[in-house]
Amino acid sequence: MADPDILVVGAGAAGLAAARAIRAAGRGVRVLEARHRPGGRAWTDSTTLAAPFDLGATWLHQALDNPLAPLAAGAAPFDHDAVRRHLCLIDGRPAAEAEMADYDATYAAFHARLRAALPEAPPGASAADFAPRGGPWDAMVAHWEGPVICAAPLAEMDLRDFLDTQLDAPNWLLPQGIGNFLSGLAAGLPIAYGAAVERLEWGRAGGVVAEGAFGRVSARAAIVTLPTALLAAGALRFDPPLPAETEQAAHDLPLGLLNKIGLRAAGEDRLGLAPFTGLERRVEREDEAAMTFIAWPFGQDHLMGFLGGPAAWEASREGPAALEELARAELRAAFGPRADAALLGAAALASDWGNDPYARGAYSHARPGRAAARRILGTPLAGGRLCFAGEACHPRLAATVGGAWESGEWAAHAALAALAGVPPEPVR
Ligand SMILES: Cc1cc2nc3c(=O)[nH]c(=O)nc-3n(C[C@H](O)[C@H](O)[C@H](O)COP(=O)(O)OP(=O)(O)OC[C@H]3O[C@@H](n4cnc5c(N)ncnc54)[C@H](O)[C@@H]3O)c2cc1C
Repeated sequence: MADPDILVVGAGAAGLAAARAIRAAGRGVRVLEARHRPGGRAWTDSTTLAAPFDLGATWLHQALDNPLAPLAAGAAPFDHDAVRRHLCLIDGRPAAEAEMADYDATYAAFHARLRAALPEAPPGASAADFAPRGGPWDAMVAHWEGPVICAAPLAEMDLRDFLDTQLDAPNWLLPQGIGNFLSGLAAGLPIAYGAAVERLEWGRAGGVVAEGAFGRVSARAAIVTLPTALLAAGALRFDPPLPAETEQAAHDLPLGLLNKIGLRAAGEDRLGLAPFTGLERRVEREDEAAMTFIAWPFGQDHLMGFLGGPAAWEASREGPAALEELARAELRAAFGPRADAALLGAAALASDWGNDPYARGAYSHARPGRAAARRILGTPLAGGRLCFAGEACHPRLAATVGGAWESGEWAAHAALAALAGVPPEPVR
């Protein structure tokens, strides 16, 4: 492999953005990617369900200021919020209009209460500390805000980070899939696949050296985009070891787990659900193993199911069949034997991010008291010759492809500045 100016470890959203920015600046770049495909935690399977199905990232959140939105303009982005409808079941029956209004009000009250608490909250406060409890919808709101959206329980998340990383509408779906979209953005980049970096030497005055089964690649600077679970587990050995503060930051930003399943219809029955109907059931506990579904997106013939938080980790430990069994049981509870008739025997496709050796989870949250970790991890080392990027480094759009993308651009600018002998800009 020819030695580049800057090497990028990982070809997920952050690595691709970094590589494109370096190339646009006229510098040589090489991306070393452990998998045999780009996109990392954004991955579309287009064959199993005979339609594009994103096993990882699904939406471009906060699309009006998502850094990927301008690039997605040609990908027919679709505003999911414009067609959302909800079917929430309470003990098997649809929630009444007044109950749904109560649900909405509980949601608004949850956010208002957490925001009001923030100025006086102790530094180690979690998102659970101020969450309302005891009302008919409080557990449901906590379930959504914790395990479903953030992939972790509220008690494990720092209050400030939780509020700082809230995402707004519009939420765009890309009909071809976000994984396919990112693969398109990888086209033409010098990416070496199957190139897992095992050791990174970064203390030398002349630059950095990456080593793995692929051999050795030297460069003047490196951008590392590994998921924090891998950094914390020591999957990449740094020589010299990382500063204690940087290493601690990776531990302070663990990955929660969210898994997805696609279940294809066996025949014509669509269970009486219109396309894009969101199906959920009211839970009594935040950590209940309850799944949520989106029915027949774009009129396609599959349901998209989600399971997050501790229940997702438990299913992931039980093995590959557990998520599918849970999904089918959930649908049976909602629709009776009709669910099996509608879905059994047809293809299913599930993600397994917890057991994925190059992810080890879905996306990051900050532990209580550790909201500063995102900025610490994103602070360039060695004057910009070693930079970290990835969703976990973005203090505002963490846990998203847009955040990963922008953090990759920031890291590229820091590394380019280092090459030009300019000190890196302060972290945003
Ligand atoms: C189920 C699920 C649903 C999600 N939903 C959404 C959503 O709707 N919207 C949204 O915006 N985001 C969503 N996300 C989060 C989003 O996918 C991530 O935030 C984003 O893709 C992370 O990009 P990244 O570049 O930081 O990391 P990654 O995509 O993980 O990229 C890191 C890359 O490094 C590679 N790598 C690992 N180890 C090595 C090594 N030793 N050497 C070389 N390469 C290595 C990996 O293979 C990977 O390709 C979801 C994620 C999951 C799992």
